[in-house]
Amino acid sequence: MALLEVEDLVVQYYTEDGVVRAVDGISYEIRAGETVGLVGESGAGKSAASRALLRLLDGTGEIVGGKIRFRGRDILELSSDDLRAIRGNEIGMVFQDAGAALNPVYTIGEQIAETIRAHEDVSDGEARDRTIALLDRVGISKPATRYTDYPHELSGGMQQRAVIAMALACDPALLICDEPTTGLDVTVQAGILEVLAELAAESETAIQLVTHDLGVVADLCDRVLVQYAGEIVERAPVEDLYYDPKHPYTVGLLVATPRLGDDRERLPTIPGTAPDLVAPPTGCRFHPRCPYAEGCCSRRRPPLVEPASGSPANGDPDAHVAACLEYTGDLETGLDYEIQVRDEAGEDGQERTHQGDPQ
Ligand code: SF4
Repeated sequence: MALLEVEDLVVQYYTEDGVVRAVDGISYEIRAGETVGLVGESGAGKSAASRALLRLLDGTGEIVGGKIRFRGRDILELSSDDLRAIRGNEIGMVFQDAGAALNPVYTIGEQIAETIRAHEDVSDGEARDRTIALLDRVGISKPATRYTDYPHELSGGMQQRAVIAMALACDPALLICDEPTTGLDVTVQAGILEVLAELAAESETAIQLVTHDLGVVADLCDRVLVQYAGEIVERAPVEDLYYDPKHPYTVGLLVATPRLGDDRERLPTIPGTAPDLVAPPTGCRFHPRCPYAEGCCSRRRPPLVEPASGSPANGDPDAHVAACLEYTGDLETGLDYEIQVRDEAGEDGQERTHQGDPQ
């Protein structure tokens, strides 16, 4: 059984400009121990989808449809007490803004130890020992000394490590990381990613990693969900997505991702901007920005299908599926893109160039 099952989830925000449907009918699952990336540009609804998992939407947000099952339990039906018991215990969360996640008037050690005591019947000494071990595990040097540091005494990177330690305090089955490295400088980012990579490799904790950075996903994830304008437009095992992307939006993201040894002077970008979700485009939501759009694209909403057969996506989480009318046979001209993704770090150590062509 899947650890987490999300089915037709719909999340709306009520704004002065109207109702924003930030998440519009997404479905996916995460199994124990796997790392799944949720990628897309800002405004794609990734964070809304992640916060909804623990009903952590702010006051203007509401889950208006769908189901979220964690270990078979319906999250949307849980009482506040039952939900509190799951948060921080069975499901941990790491947000982008580590400073805001830490309480400035308590030391980081006290905060992590308190998280342990809130969910487990342990002595103060045991909570302290476990906290020091956690600080060590996330790469904070001199953890016993750092235990007594207040958040303002730590750098941004150290604060994020402390937040990850807090999220891991009760050995959660699922860790949701929402843009955990955004805003950190590159070397600090690499350190945080190393911590997450170790966690993904060595523990049974499943990770949902929300990011706009496909490079981060390549390093860490087993599978990838690509979200655009509130919808999932492609889902695939990570290698399939990188070497054989099927959706023009995914291709645009990949081409815009810098690579080691990249000699392009300028990175191409996807033309246009993410759509206004108060009044999203009709048909395929990507059609105003898609270089392959045809007349039918503004009229028909493409379903998620298996590209090779055009069969509707079934429940197999390992299947490669994409939502583009090319794969339902509706495009006349078809996609004729040719992408080149250079991989300096191929498993065989050889540089290779992949050319993707869906024709
Ligand atoms: S359905 Fe049309 S607009 Fe949408 S991605 Fe496919 S070709 Fe582009």
